[in-house]
Order: sequence, then structure tokens, then C-alpha cells
Amino acid sequence: MRPPSVDALARSIADIDLPQPLLVDAARAAIAAGDPGEARAIAASTRRALLRPVINATGVLLHTNLGRAPLGFAHAPAYTNLELDLATGKRGSRRAHAGALLARACGAESALVVNNGAGAVLLALAALARGRGVAVSRGELVEIGGGFRVPDVMAESGAHLVEVGTTNRTRPADYAAVAGDVALVLKVHQSNYRITGFTEDTPVEAVAALGPPVVVDLGSGLLDAACPWLPGGPPPWLRDEPAARQTLEAGAALVIFSGDKLLGGPQAGVLAGRADLVDACARHPLYRALRPGGLVLGALQQVALAYLARDRDALPFWRMATAGVDSLRARAAALGAGEVVECASVTGGGTVPGVEIPSAGVALDGDRSAALRAVEPKPIITRVDEGRTIVDLRTVDPADDALVGAALRELP
Ligand SMILES: *Cc1c(COP(=O)(O)O)cnc(C)c1O
Repeated sequence: MRPPSVDALARSIADIDLPQPLLVDAARAAIAAGDPGEARAIAASTRRALLRPVINATGVLLHTNLGRAPLGFAHAPAYTNLELDLATGKRGSRRAHAGALLARACGAESALVVNNGAGAVLLALAALARGRGVAVSRGELVEIGGGFRVPDVMAESGAHLVEVGTTNRTRPADYAAVAGDVALVLKVHQSNYRITGFTEDTPVEAVAALGPPVVVDLGSGLLDAACPWLPGGPPPWLRDEPAARQTLEAGAALVIFSGDKLLGGPQAGVLAGRADLVDACARHPLYRALRPGGLVLGALQQVALAYLARDRDALPFWRMATAGVDSLRARAAALGAGEVVECASVTGGGTVPGVEIPSAGVALDGDRSAALRAVEPKPIITRVDEGRTIVDLRTVDPADDALVGAALRELP
């Protein structure tokens, strides 16, 4: 029997919502595999794999695989005043919007936005210390994950790493010994690990007194330790997480943080601090390669405005992170499936390691994670713990509860 033609097979699955060339690819793959009947399944799985909203029921607030912070930003196709000064009609700056607002929100003179935190560190080192020394404590020569290692980034930037102190103890005198020979001191937050026991760390205040500008890679992007955008102030699980405003007040010349960790925005990297240093970063050719586009800057502007308005409810990350356990338990009971359980959420994304946030959800017997990932229109991502599937409601938007409830009740 002759196999069907690729075109005929592609036409027979045209009801699947994919452009024609992708239906043809599916048909071709099925024929090549000797199983034309599989074309529909191949096309459907291509369709399912497209970037799409999912329901995060893992309880991990900043889940790297799920895009870290929840993001809600869409507008109709339109031109923007990305680099137009509307007052003068002249060329403006893409720094004028999100960057300026974030600077205002954390008390910095100026701020610059790039594509991610790693890019921000690379840019700061290249722009401020290429060909010169940068002092870093041996306790802060970290790997953040995804290939970001401080010594490697340093090498790529053209700055020279000057190691000070030891893994567990770095004193002000260790920094003082090299202060005359370095362009910068870099402090890196131990985002995803802790060194405990016989340890000593030099606070930013003490390092700042030595002379060279201090650049602090905060990682997480907590804007202000007082959390004025939260009606109840800082939650207990935030503990000693360093914040941009307080680190600048302590004397840091520049702080660097991600847009999509505790800031709760889109993937971005922010440099905030002294205007002369921020300007030097903006003038460096690498900025041209690392600058974000209007979509990211638009989403980040929305986040910055919400912080300035002290509007927690407009910050989905913080709304979810601070939801009361009672309200989560009530939502769990209303799902009408599984057993209501207490569970523990985490911030994830390499922030506040080891800290658990009390939460609630439902537990189902067995591993149901694959069936829940197949749910339409939004896959539901869960975690499996000791043979039970946990649906943690802290990370689920209440608007999705009806969908989650229906999916759970329909599980075979
Ligand atoms: C997460 C992190 C980075 C990298 O930021 P990305 O936005 O993921 O590129 C750099 N430094 C520290 C301390 C971090 O925690």
C-alpha cells in the first residue's frame, strides 16, 4: 500500500491550530517513522509545547521552569514612545520609563535595565573595571546556576579577580589590604546557599568606607526591607534578605538585581545607584547588546508603578506570597476533590534558601502529575511528595480555581 502524500496527510489534520508548514512537518515525521496515523498526535504535541500559560500548583513561587515570577502583561499591537521625548519631539531614552521609576522606588540616583541579572553583572564589571582589579571575598565566588559563576563572568568582563579573605571568614582588613589596587569591590549575595558555623562576613558599611566603589549583586531584587507595599509589612519568612534601598543607604555605589525574582516582574536585570556609574554602564557598548525591548520595559514599568503606589494586589508575586493560610484552606475545601492538607511553599528561584511559607492545598493519592500536565486549556503543574500529588494553592491564581477543581474531579 502506498503511503499517503505529505500534503494530503497535512490537510487531514488541518483542524489542529498550527500554521501549515508545521502541519507538513508533522505529516513528514509521521511518514518517515512509517506510521502516518501518528501525524495528528505529533502535530498536537507540537501545539501543546508552544509557550503558553500554565497553572503553577507546585507551591514554588519563583519556579525557574515556569518562568519565575507570574507575569500578566499584554497590550494590543502599538507603537510606543520607547525612545521619543513626547514633550520635545526629540530622541528620548529608553531609560526614562522603567529605569527611572525603579530608581525612585529604591531610592537610587539612577537605574538601568538590561536583559537579566547576569548581564547586569557582566556590564557593570566591563564598564567600571575592565583591565583593572575587582576585590571579591572567597566566600562569595558563587555559582548561581545556569552557568553563572562569578570568576567566569569576571574573566569575560575583562576585569581581574582579586580574591580576599577565606571561604568562611572575610574581615574588613582583608578588603583594606587590597583597596588601593582595585577599581571596585564586588559583593555577591549568597542567594542559593548558606555558610554557617565559624563565619564572619564584612557588612557593606565597612567595605564602603575603604574607598573603591562597592557594587553589590543582590540577586533577588527585594526593593525595600520595610516592604511598604505590603499592608502587614515584611513577612517573617523574608528574614534577613538584603534589600536594594537599605544596601544603597549602607554605602553601596551600585546594586544589581533580577527583575523576575523577589521583584516579581519580567526577566530583566537592574543596575541602580550612583548616576555617574549607571551612566558609564549605559555608555558601554555592551549595553547596546544587553538592552531590553519595549515589551520587557513596559511590563517592568507596570511593576515599578505598582511598587510606588504601594499596591500589593497589582504585584501577583507578592499577592500570592502573602495570601493567608486560612484563605488557601477555604479555597482548597471549595475545590471539591482530594483531601485538604497543610503544606509548605517556598520562594524558589535561588532566593531565601531553606525558608518555607506555610500553605494549604489538596493531596491526591498516587502520582497524578502527568495527567494534570495534560489538562486543557491550561496544564496544571504539581509536585509529588511521598506517593501523593500535592496541589498547593498558594501559587494558583484564584481565577483558576474553577478550572483546577473541575480537572481534579474529572481525574480517572
Ligand atoms: C539570580 C542571580 C543572578 C543571575 O540573575 P539572572 O536574572 O538569573 O540572570 C546573579 N547573581 C545573584 C546573586 C543571583 O541570585
